[in-house]
Amino acid sequence: MPELPKDITAAELILVIEDDAGFAELMHSTLVDEGYRCQNFACGRDAFDWLAVNSAEMIILDYTLPDMTGAAVIERMRELGLSAPFVMVTGRDDAGLAVEMMKTGACDFMIKDTTFLDRLPAVVSRALHEAQTRRKLERAEMSLRQSEARLARAQKIARMGSWEWNIASGEINWSDELYHIFGLTPGEPAVINMEWLYTLIVPLDLPVFKKAILNSIKSCQPFNLVYRITTQNAGEIVVTSQGEVECDESGHACLLSGTTLDITARIRAESEIQQLINYDTLTGLPNRSLLHDRLHQAIAQSVRDKNLLGVLVLDLDRFKGINETLGHRAGDKLLKSIGARLQACVRDSDTLARLGGDEFVAILVGVTHEEGITTVAKKVLAIVSEPVYIDGHEIYTTCSIGIAVYPMDGDDSHTLLKHADLAMYQAKELDRNNFQFFSRDMNIKVLERMMLENSMRKALERDEFFLVYQPQVDARTGRITGMEALLRWQHPDLGLLAPDKFIYLAEDNGFIISLGEWVLRTACRQNKAWQDQGLPAVRVAVNLSAKQFGQYHLDEVIASTLLDTGLEPRWLELEITESTIMKDAEKNTVILQKFKGMGISLAIDDFGTGYSSLSYLKMFPLTRLKIDRAFVRDITTNPDDAAIAEIIIDIARTLKLSVIAEGVETRAQMQFLSFNNCVEMQGYLFSRPVRAEEFANLLKNGLKY
Ligand code: C2E
Ligand code: MG
Ligand code: MG
Repeated sequence: MPELPKDITAAELILVIEDDAGFAELMHSTLVDEGYRCQNFACGRDAFDWLAVNSAEMIILDYTLPDMTGAAVIERMRELGLSAPFVMVTGRDDAGLAVEMMKTGACDFMIKDTTFLDRLPAVVSRALHEAQTRRKLERAEMSLRQSEARLARAQKIARMGSWEWNIASGEINWSDELYHIFGLTPGEPAVINMEWLYTLIVPLDLPVFKKAILNSIKSCQPFNLVYRITTQNAGEIVVTSQGEVECDESGHACLLSGTTLDITARIRAESEIQQLINYDTLTGLPNRSLLHDRLHQAIAQSVRDKNLLGVLVLDLDRFKGINETLGHRAGDKLLKSIGARLQACVRDSDTLARLGGDEFVAILVGVTHEEGITTVAKKVLAIVSEPVYIDGHEIYTTCSIGIAVYPMDGDDSHTLLKHADLAMYQAKELDRNNFQFFSRDMNIKVLERMMLENSMRKALERDEFFLVYQPQVDARTGRITGMEALLRWQHPDLGLLAPDKFIYLAEDNGFIISLGEWVLRTACRQNKAWQDQGLPAVRVAVNLSAKQFGQYHLDEVIASTLLDTGLEPRWLELEITESTIMKDAEKNTVILQKFKGMGISLAIDDFGTGYSSLSYLKMFPLTRLKIDRAFVRDITTNPDDAAIAEIIIDIARTLKLSVIAEGVETRAQMQFLSFNNCVEMQGYLFSRPVRAEEFANLLKNGLKY
């Protein structure tokens, strides 16, 4: 057997099964000359042995072989799953045989005559080409089938079906998935039309559906529509359909096709999210956020209708006592049942909301005169004071109501709520279980204070406080050496409040003790967290108020906070104002000594504003003096302020204390201070106090000023 030419190994390999050795040799050389590779076998068995481990692009087969007939070879090839095209060769000119061979799948049939070798290359080339085309087609068909299957799978997963409506014949074609979505068995009914489809659509949505389809057909524009379907197994479902129109030459719509997607789950999830965002989980009533929306809308409505609008703020009397004696669960049940009773007092168009705790708000719309509001308030007082039975207890409760009326008492939601709140405090002050309309004569200052005090107690539980951090900087290098933690209150009605708006109140009523502990703990925990994240370690300064400072066991509170948060004492600094520390200087020395012993730094805040006795200052175990920003402000223009600042810097040097200037806003102030040997500074020039996330960035990337 001749060797295969090396240089055409990549060419198609043709198998020649021919027992006439001379003829086989001729075929071989003809094919090799044409650039094919060729493999010859003289009998069927040898050929099949070879085919068991090799494959050929094409087979040229002699019809009569010593061991089997051509028909038997074909049969065997089929059994083995071989699909190579083949050309049958025979010595006989037999048309019947030719037809038979073509039927078995032969590509061609050739007679061994004198022109055979001349015709052979063309026959082979055509057969190979046809086979190649067939393979391509098969692959395309396969990939179409696969992508159809993929589409069906995707549609099934997405709960999406496709459809086609032949407008002329009225016939509608549906994908199986569409039947599934509609809770039907695919193919039932076999013939579907629009009339039948209409019966599935929820009647309320039908006019919209018809209109959308009609518009689409008329205008030849696509449509997109959400509507509901009544299914047999899944009840009402929500679907969205998108369709496109195909028009004929005359521009008339002839085909409408598109997809329909089941969006019930999505709608449900969306409404659950809305429910969580807008409603109180205990009573199911709208919460504060939805209340503001509704109040907004109600005001707009009142403007249009020229009606009054009543805002009732209602607070249960002595609810705290009930909660404490009977437990929170009983308290919750009471709130639920009161919520349900209140709902019965207002109309459907009104809004009843729960603001949290034992506070409810009702918005009464479409009121023509104030008596209407009075009637509701009286009804509410009566219905709330009826006994409630909870876990075998008969509970009596009353409430106090404050009322503000639009437009007299305010024309925006915040003002109306605030005034109704103030009126409610007035009602509580009087003898509870009554209602009060807001009036300008009310002692607003006193009431505002009461309101703020009251909401402050709730604020800690409601997470309304947070800390901001302001960097303290070494002005020589620009490096952050520390930070001051400053308190902020995100008040639900009054917005963001700075400490000067509420710290004095907290000090007056003693709340500063809990609040101060929260600040200390939060600041220490945050500082430790930053250190754990690998950010540069810096000290955190926490402000202590006079009340806190006088607190019994303050040292223990601080020690346990450090222990709990894992912050090393050297990274904590306490800021105490000059006036606080000088008030009872001797006693304070003992307290400060304890702090010093723990390894904490101590700074005197707002230094220069009080009267410090230098002898005491010497006695106190201090770390730092903070030059009050009142002197820094005009340091470059007012010689007195400049002199005071210089004296403070001098005192610090004499007492071997560090010094820091606060309120540095300009480069000129910075230069003056640097020139006078005050290197540490804090102020807007470097950075305003920022939220924790932003401060972490400053620590990581440094300051830009
Ligand atoms: P402070 O301890 O003297 O804090 C510095 C105040 O100056 C901060 O006001 C800060 O925002 C502001 N400030 C910083 N740089 C500049 C500047 O360049 N220009 C100007 N104009 N102001 C600057 P904030 O945060 O309103 O605090 C006011 C005071 O409230 C504090 O004065 C401190 O006495 C008290 N405070 C803040 N947080 C707490 C706290 O957690 N507990 C207690 N007890 N008091 C606090
Ligand atoms: Mg301070
Ligand atoms: Mg200060």
